[in-house]
Amino acid sequence: MHKTIVIGGVIGAYGAKFLAENNEVALIEEHKNEEQPVHCAGLISKSGFERLNINPDKFILNKIRGAKFFSQNTSFEIRTNETKAYVIDRKRFDNELLNSAIDSGVRFINERATDINAGENWTVRTKSSEFNAKNLILATGANYKLHRMLNLPIPKFLNALQYEIFAECEQDMVELHLTKDFFAWLIPVDGYARVGIAGYGNVRENLDNFITNLRAHRKVGEILMKHAGLIPIYDPKFKTDYKFSDLNLRLVGDAAAQVKATTGGGVVMGCLAARHLADKNYENGWRKDIGNELYLHLMIRKFLNKRYKKFDDMLAFANKHKEIFYSGDMDFASKLFKNLGLEFVRHPLMATDVFKILF
Ligand SMILES: Cc1cc2nc3c(=O)[nH]c(=O)nc-3n(C[C@H](O)[C@H](O)[C@H](O)COP(=O)(O)OP(=O)(O)OC[C@H]3O[C@@H](n4cnc5c(N)ncnc54)[C@H](O)[C@@H]3O)c2cc1C
Repeated sequence: MHKTIVIGGVIGAYGAKFLAENNEVALIEEHKNEEQPVHCAGLISKSGFERLNINPDKFILNKIRGAKFFSQNTSFEIRTNETKAYVIDRKRFDNELLNSAIDSGVRFINERATDINAGENWTVRTKSSEFNAKNLILATGANYKLHRMLNLPIPKFLNALQYEIFAECEQDMVELHLTKDFFAWLIPVDGYARVGIAGYGNVRENLDNFITNLRAHRKVGEILMKHAGLIPIYDPKFKTDYKFSDLNLRLVGDAAAQVKATTGGGVVMGCLAARHLADKNYENGWRKDIGNELYLHLMIRKFLNKRYKKFDDMLAFANKHKEIFYSGDMDFASKLFKNLGLEFVRHPLMATDVFKILF
């Protein structure tokens, strides 16, 4: 059996389970479950759970039926009668995937990997032990210390900050307030909300301003918790599979920037990529599965960032052509373009509205 060392968290655990079918796998993760810092809004699509074949029942905190988008002067909402996404308890979710990996034969080492050396094998050191294997997987999230140690490139990223806070909102609708760089979000959980922002500038100042604005229109109470994090930006040229003579190194999840550039969501895409960790050609495997989708998300993000002055027009367009968005998919952006194409055939005059947004 081949030996594989996986360093990292939730996506590492998900991938380790698949690897354990043909590998002796050691999973090194520094946090004990209860200490795990949560830097996630925990919004995962229902279809995403189905794709990953995970039953979400144990970690659902809230069910979401739609989304409201806000620009400076207008808004647009998609409201359905069915659950489209779940707000989950990330600690419980991460723990469930870890236990599932352990049940599949993965050896769990609850320590920090402090040093990596390449010799006849990869040698990974923790405070108390040393582990050797031909295959090494970095699933270290948006912590790029080990990338730097191995002289690997580091993806570009956005800064993100989120507060858990009492805030008046509809319990089954998420809110996305579009900003120049990205958006601010308000996700209802269970009597409180996760309110956050991501961007390039001073996110603390931007989030505090956003909350001050919210307070002008609705009841917003005390902050219960603050979480900061990084959101890596997908780069189609970012290499995720390395070979050093007979040693293999693979990157997955946020460590490989396998994140939707539209929303910063990385759980579903990272897990889908992790299913290919045992493939002979990992790079081809995951790209065939989700590469085009991640690229589309990136193109949409670039388009939005360039056209931020047109957000009012875009939301007016969305209000006029709601059908396009109703059967969209939170993870697979290609569905939106298919719907757009179909609407174009049905309503050629739509071209005038599209022209208004583009130019
Ligand atoms: C504010 C914010 C909100 C977000 N909201 C959402 C959302 O609503 N939905 C969504 O899908 N995604 C969201 N994301 C993104 C999502 O959190 C990540 O895409 C996801 O957690 C990536 O999983 P991962 O396993 O790659 O990394 P992580 O979840 O970060 O796990 C990596 C783990 O590796 C461990 N580690 C790192 N280095 C070492 C080491 N040397 N030794 C041992 N262990 C190590 C870390 O401690 C960590 O536990 C959000 C991100 C942020 C910042």
